[in-house]
Amino acid sequence: MKTVILKLKRFLDGLFEDPLKLVDDVTDSSGLPVVPDQKTGDPIWVDVREIRMRYTIPIKGVYPYIDSLRKGRLAAAKCRSCGKIYFPPQKDCPRCRVSDMEVHYLSPEGELVTWTVINVKPLSFMHHKDYVVGIVRLRDGINVLAWIDIDDPAKLDVGVRMRLVVDKRPDENYITYWFKPA
Ligand SMILES: [Zn+2]
Repeated sequence: MKTVILKLKRFLDGLFEDPLKLVDDVTDSSGLPVVPDQKTGDPIWVDVREIRMRYTIPIKGVYPYIDSLRKGRLAAAKCRSCGKIYFPPQKDCPRCRVSDMEVHYLSPEGELVTWTVINVKPLSFMHHKDYVVGIVRLRDGINVLAWIDIDDPAKLDVGVRMRLVVDKRPDENYITYWFKPA
C-alpha cells in the first residue's frame, strides 16, 4: 500500500512539474508571475501559493456499481420498487423513499446528444491533448457524460452512434469509461 501511495505521489508531482516550472521561469525572467491566457492572450496572475486538494469520498453505499467497472461494465442503480434507473448510481430512491436498489448494467450503445472540445485544460489533465466531452443517450434512455475518443471532432454530429468503452485511459492507471464512435 505504501508503495502505491509513493507511486501516486510521484505521478502527481510529474503532472504539476512542467506547468509550475514554466511559471517559475516566467517569474524569474520578468519579475512577476504573470503569463498570457492561452486563449485571449490577456495577462493572468498565477498565484504563487500552491493549493493541492485530494478528496476522499465514502463509497460503501454505491460500491457494487463502482466495482462493476472492473468487470468492464457501467452500472446504474435501479429501484426494485418503482423501476426508476439512476445514473450516476445512488443508494436511495427519492421517489419511493426506500433503499432497495439493484445493479442495472447499462447498454453500451447510444447516440450523441451534445459535445464540446476542451482546449483549456485543468492542471491535472494537462498531459492530455485537447479532448472532447459529450453526453450520450444510451438505449436505456439514460444520459451519460463522458469523454469522446475521436481523432477529428468535426466528424461528430447529433445522433452519431456511440459505443461505451470501460478501460484504463492511456497515462492513467485506473479504470474509467468513455465513448467512441460505433
Ligand atoms: Zn423507486
